[in-house]
Amino acid sequence: MISKPRIAIVGAGIGGLTLALMLHHHDFDVQIFEAVQAVKPLGVGINVQPSAVTELVALGLLADLDRIGVRTQEVAYFNPQGQKVWAEPRGRFAGYPVPQYSIHRGQLQVLLLRVVQQRLGEDALKLGHRVLEIDVESTVLKIQQGSNNYLVKPDLIIGADGIHSTLRRQFFPKEGAPCFSGRMLWRATSMAKPFLSAASMAMVGHADQKFVTYPIEPVQASSGLQCINWIAELRVDEVSPERQDWNKQVSKEVFAGAFSAWRFDWLDIPDLIDRAQAYYEFPMVDRDPLPSWGGGACTLLGDAAHPMYPIGSNGASQAILDAKSLVECLQQNPNDLQQALRAYERDRLPKTASIVLANRGQGPDHCLEIVRERAPAGFERLDDVVSEQELLDVAARYKGLVGLEKDRIRERVQGDPNLAEIVASIG
Ligand SMILES: Cc1cc2nc3c(=O)[nH]c(=O)nc-3n(C[C@H](O)[C@H](O)[C@H](O)COP(=O)(O)OP(=O)(O)OC[C@H]3O[C@@H](n4cnc5c(N)ncnc54)[C@H](O)[C@@H]3O)c2cc1C
Repeated sequence: MISKPRIAIVGAGIGGLTLALMLHHHDFDVQIFEAVQAVKPLGVGINVQPSAVTELVALGLLADLDRIGVRTQEVAYFNPQGQKVWAEPRGRFAGYPVPQYSIHRGQLQVLLLRVVQQRLGEDALKLGHRVLEIDVESTVLKIQQGSNNYLVKPDLIIGADGIHSTLRRQFFPKEGAPCFSGRMLWRATSMAKPFLSAASMAMVGHADQKFVTYPIEPVQASSGLQCINWIAELRVDEVSPERQDWNKQVSKEVFAGAFSAWRFDWLDIPDLIDRAQAYYEFPMVDRDPLPSWGGGACTLLGDAAHPMYPIGSNGASQAILDAKSLVECLQQNPNDLQQALRAYERDRLPKTASIVLANRGQGPDHCLEIVRERAPAGFERLDDVVSEQELLDVAARYKGLVGLEKDRIRERVQGDPNLAEIVASIG
């Protein structure tokens, strides 16, 4: 075994930080280089699937997740008239060993960052250190800190540097900008009355006009209100802006009018939109799957490797599963780290490529397209429009693609006595 391999991670997002914690747990020597000077809790809500939550729980983060997130109880789909098309329980409510969480993306990132600093030491995380380029032949990173540049030579380089990845651009210089779907997303959070179970995720509409919403904090005892995350989505077909910025603020006038009639007895969407303090615009983009994720002692992970439409709650979840696979491959190939990276790519590249492509076809939200096509003005009886079996099949197909088979997650838990003990304590 190469004595304590030194691994450089580029990017302290959810993928990079989770990988750092896993590598440290297995006694690798890790340094993370993050471009921003201070990590602030940016973004709005995300969902983390049980497959990925299992890995965070294995890292000892169950209590933290319960503190900052909401255990997602169900996912429910509605047509634009507000009629229910499909609903199913999620996480523990669906018999998985661990919960699914609805959580603030920035709070999860800050949590992981704090734990990295505690466990790996302050020095392992280099904030304000932007990776400018790498030399794949010699495994060297060129890093900019303030007005100085310096070089680092680790044994392995992992590019977890997001959708605008510098490392990916170096491997595939002709790739160009991300692919625009023709749909724009407006994201926000609002303090509002709980809807449905107070832990439900609702998808309303169809591919050209959709509203996705779920709470990301518990109901406040004093006000009876809850922090509710939402995303309004419209087909705009205009050319995507040059570079996507997760934090671009716009006025609600840009999109709110299209949803003004979406008031249902179970959710008042115009009211939810009005209650937000800030609205963030982000085009729905992804990138085509790649033939490989790197070369030599370098690879990619998370959004750098496979940015996908935010459908089916897989952005953060798949980054965490990448990290798990990478660490396993390194353990299985202790004498040949490059061989380990290629084994990781063979495992994860085809799986994540399938999800990128499935999300272009609306993934699990495809049930809304079926109903839109057959009953655009709504329905009296859902059974006349679509059978329960057809809806079940749509949901099951996607679960298989993204690694959400219950038996596989149970096996993973039972195969790790420490994890099994923690899971047994979950209430
Ligand atoms: C600010 C921000 C807000 C987001 N908000 C949402 C949201 O509201 N909803 C949603 O579904 N998804 C959001 N995402 C995307 C979501 O976090 C990812 O899809 C998912 O978590 C996978 O993350 P990742 O770790 O692969 O990449 P990211 O979370 O994008 O993290 C990449 C990290 O790499 C750093 N980086 C980039 N280039 C360099 C470089 N050259 N050198 C060093 N560091 C570099 C970035 O600063 C960033 O911290 C957001 C991402 C960001 C960066």
